[in-house]
Amino acid sequence: AYVVTDLCSGCRYTECVTVCPVECFHVDERMTYIDPDNCIDCGGCAPICPVGAIQADFLLAADKKAWIGINRERAALTPVLTQRLPPLPGAPALPQGAGA
Ligand code: SF4
Repeated sequence: AYVVTDLCSGCRYTECVTVCPVECFHVDERMTYIDPDNCIDCGGCAPICPVGAIQADFLLAADKKAWIGINRERAALTPVLTQRLPPLPGAPALPQGAGA
């Protein structure tokens, strides 16, 4: 499965939710999470994230592996998100013309 990591926390651009074909994404007040039981490993979400927060689980660095379990736990407790939300105030500015 693909995994949303700490780079999303406080940012939450949510481009990812618009490309997922199987509605994997869940959301809370800080970030999105992927339900690993629904993810079909299409890979569509990873390149569209403006901050590179999403990676395949097997590609995660050792210090990011904990996010596999965090995504599973949080996805089970939070609602599905299928439409974009405004980014959070802490989101890094994007180059002009990027993002929405
Ligand atoms: Fe959805 Fe594909 Fe990303 Fe999995 S890899 S969360 S199926 S967009």
